[in-house]
Amino acid sequence: MTQTLLVINSGSSSVKFAAYDVLPDAALQRIANGRIEGIGSAPRLRVWGQSGEPLEDRRISVSDDPVLGPEEAFEALFEWLGQHAAGRTLGAVGHRVVHGGELFTRPARVTPAILAQLAGFTALAPLHQPHNLSAIRAIASLYPDLPQVACFDTEFHTTQPWVAQACALPRQITEAGVKRYGFHGLSYEYIASVLPDQLGAVANGRVVVAHLGNGASLCAMRGRRSVSSTMGFTALDGLVMGTRCGSLDPGVVLYLMSGLGMSVQAVEKLLYEQSGLLGVSGISSDMRTVEASAAPEARQAIDLYVYRIAQQLGSLAASLGGLEALVFTAGIGENSASLRRRVCEDAAWLGVALDEETNQAGGSGARCISTAGSRVAVWVIPTNEELMIARHTQAVLQGRGAHDWRSGRV
Ligand code: ADP
Repeated sequence: MTQTLLVINSGSSSVKFAAYDVLPDAALQRIANGRIEGIGSAPRLRVWGQSGEPLEDRRISVSDDPVLGPEEAFEALFEWLGQHAAGRTLGAVGHRVVHGGELFTRPARVTPAILAQLAGFTALAPLHQPHNLSAIRAIASLYPDLPQVACFDTEFHTTQPWVAQACALPRQITEAGVKRYGFHGLSYEYIASVLPDQLGAVANGRVVVAHLGNGASLCAMRGRRSVSSTMGFTALDGLVMGTRCGSLDPGVVLYLMSGLGMSVQAVEKLLYEQSGLLGVSGISSDMRTVEASAAPEARQAIDLYVYRIAQQLGSLAASLGGLEALVFTAGIGENSASLRRRVCEDAAWLGVALDEETNQAGGSGARCISTAGSRVAVWVIPTNEELMIARHTQAVLQGRGAHDWRSGRV
């Protein structure tokens, strides 16, 4: 029997998943990936095979009732896996959990007590944490004996110096856990693990990685460890995102409540779900749609998106004392040549010189897009958070605590 590991990244209305076989030499091989979309409205299960070939695309329904919750969605997923996994046994499920707070600095095998502690961080990541945890609960109720492992987006940033983590608030507030945690850690950890393959010695120098997806942040690394990030206490801070505002004068929040009479819930919805590219463009949170629009508001949304990246890239370069490499990753970073060009133009003062031909050329693997003479090496490196989660899950199952990505290639 081949042992298979399932990786789950659960969001508000969709669940992304990937399944990996553990090969005899302990290497992991992805055998399928997919998503369940439209949970709570018209859910669909879509699965792709090893080479990206479509394996499944169908509506999920129970007794003709299309409105399903996460439990029924996972039931459908496990049913599909059961039908397509002859000769395999499911060893564990690894989950992306956005916030581990101060308590979790390594991946953890989930117990009811740990689940309760993680639920305590829901207010710190309202867009993600409840959905991450409801996936764990749904699977636990279906398969109580199946090991589940939580992998945290905050973990990679625990190496940051005190000054990068601190808020200039009274000590007792900081000591109560109000500090800058940083997010997208599983993505940064994966990029850090493959940097030496691409950048050679520069990998251990002063590097900024730009994770630009629906959520977006920058991470400054030295020695492939996080020293600073644009995200802070919550995943709201920093760059402009699909629906999140990024950095905001905290006085605005006070004014929204005391001046405009908005409730805490209304402010939370505004800042997490109605701002960013969507709020500024008034068109979409999706960069492809915004880029395709000729509306002046769409142009302004992209101008602001680029301006904030360029501004905060300068800030992180200052915290590193210079910049030797800039890496673009995630949906926008990997796919939008025009966005990369605009960021690089604004970063020319740092020594960035883009090779526009290689930038435009596209491709799916890691590639260098700076000129031979550029003082800063610019790269596109596809991220792979799922593989990182699978590696950690395998390590926890084997009693190794966490995957030691510094020991070699993942
Ligand atoms: P998530 O944070 O949900 O994992 P992704 O990393 O998949 O998100 O990134 C989603 C974003 O990437 C969306 O804004 C989408 O429009 C953008 N994107 C994907 N492909 C392209 C492309 N070819 N050009 C511009 N933006 C793209």
